[in-house]
Amino acid sequence: MAAERNVELGYVEETEKFLLKSRFFPSKVGGVPAWLSLNPLPSAEELTCRVCSKPTVFLLQVYAPDSSKTFAFHRTVFIFICRNDNCCKANCADNLIVLRSQLPKVNDFFRSQPPAEVPIENEIDASKYAKLCRVCGGVGPKTCGKCGCVSYCSKEHQAVDWKAYHKRECSTNKTGNYFFQYIYNLAGFFSTFWEDSPWLWNWEFYRHFHEIGKIN
Ligand SMILES: [Zn+2]
Ligand SMILES: [Zn+2]
Ligand SMILES: [Zn+2]
Repeated sequence: MAAERNVELGYVEETEKFLLKSRFFPSKVGGVPAWLSLNPLPSAEELTCRVCSKPTVFLLQVYAPDSSKTFAFHRTVFIFICRNDNCCKANCADNLIVLRSQLPKVNDFFRSQPPAEVPIENEIDASKYAKLCRVCGGVGPKTCGKCGCVSYCSKEHQAVDWKAYHKRECSTNKTGNYFFQYIYNLAGFFSTFWEDSPWLWNWEFYRHFHEIGKIN
């Protein structure tokens, strides 16, 4: 007998930027992940494309809590994708990384009560625990050798940012303007795969954040 499945349909709409921070447990598309479990994050190796071995980029995340399980009071599924369209093949999900992160209601990062919907000065995010790559939002242990002000997960993401932005900013950093703030817009970065997206059919590969196995 076929299992009965409920499918919840939704759509993407713009919202206030601060509502996309981790403490609001958002579902979001593009930009960088709003990590659920803030520490430790997946390693750069875990976020590598299994076809070309290059780093993937964040595509989207969906908040999907399971209140019947105390350990999954908060639950988010994160999807990363390789930008190289040659890695996208029929019936193969090796160009996608899907991670599931879960937290109990009482956890090390967030209050048990729903957060007030107001911006706060010291937003709690994964950057409290590790340097983050400004391109993909994953761990970024490598820093720009010239200015030392920005972090990356890999040479590849450093090259992407250098070309798109940091080349101009780096000299600004060197003169001591550390207040310069930049919000990296990945919309253009993703533009190559919004059209023709056969990858939508290839989501059979799932990996736990903390535990590798099949989805419960
Ligand atoms: Zn690839
Ligand atoms: Zn990166
Ligand atoms: Zn620099």
